[in-house]
Amino acid sequence: MQSDFNTVNCDGRIYKVKLILIKKVDEAKGTKSFFFKPEKSISFSAGQYLYYTLAKLNYPDAKGATRLFTIASSPTETDSIRLTTKIREESGYKKTLDELAIGEVIKADGPNGTFLFDENEKGSHVFLAGGIGITPFRSIIKYVVDNKLANPIYLIYSNSDNDIVFKRKFDEIVKNNSNIRVHYVISSTEGHLDQIKINELIKNYKLKIKNCTLWVCGPPGFNDAMEEILGNMKVPSGQIRSEKFTGY
Ligand SMILES: Cc1cc2nc3c(=O)[nH]c(=O)nc-3n(C[C@H](O)[C@H](O)[C@H](O)COP(=O)(O)OP(=O)(O)OC[C@H]3O[C@@H](n4cnc5c(N)ncnc54)[C@H](O)[C@@H]3O)c2cc1C
Repeated sequence: MQSDFNTVNCDGRIYKVKLILIKKVDEAKGTKSFFFKPEKSISFSAGQYLYYTLAKLNYPDAKGATRLFTIASSPTETDSIRLTTKIREESGYKKTLDELAIGEVIKADGPNGTFLFDENEKGSHVFLAGGIGITPFRSIIKYVVDNKLANPIYLIYSNSDNDIVFKRKFDEIVKNNSNIRVHYVISSTEGHLDQIKINELIKNYKLKIKNCTLWVCGPPGFNDAMEEILGNMKVPSGQIRSEKFTGY
């Protein structure tokens, strides 16, 4: 299993760049995407993350003015860097981020992370996403689509309700790309994603575990639950990639 905090990136460079906010978009209740234009282009791989430092905090925050977030855009979306997060009252950082005006500048360091997609890796990829843990999968799926890659991808995306981040985009992608399948699990109505549901989906998709790489991303509770399930299913650890969104 890969570690959460390795610092490998695609061209071996760590950039320190200024990011200019160019757009904000509501994705779902409380969840927003922030689009930044880097002052100089940065090279990154789909699935990596940056450290984002705000110039000042408008509200106190014990964790300070720096957080790390996945680059939710794909390297093929060269016009901007996309940061997607849920804004919570309790976070002085996120409230300040939300109040940034278009044109304001923040700093970024990176990219970091080894939650990387290798298009030459054989077999199917099963992505298990919990809530905001969808961000690296959005980047990877957009990368696969934009490069017209044929890798089979099965996204199993767990949410508390029907207000699902990126759903419209995924539905459009599924319509036009037969190698990409998406299944939404709504935990408030059908219960949490569990071993029975995962086994059913794998059976319906006619997948053989030994030919799959299973990727897990979400808040710690989600990752712990998925890793326990995959352990029970006797999936070898070499076939599992996990990125835990610590900080929640
Ligand atoms: C590799 C990596 C990539 C990441 N990528 C992303 C990303 O793309 N998007 C993203 O949003 N985050 C991402 N994170 C997590 C991110 O770094 C922050 O730690 C996280 O968003 C929490 O932010 P915050 O500290 O401002 O607290 P917030 O989540 O805003 O909340 C503030 C406080 O509210 C409480 N709280 C939070 N959630 C709940 C809850 N569900 N129920 C009750 N109380 C709660 C907690 O006490 C928390 O300290 C990533 C983390 C890692 C390690």
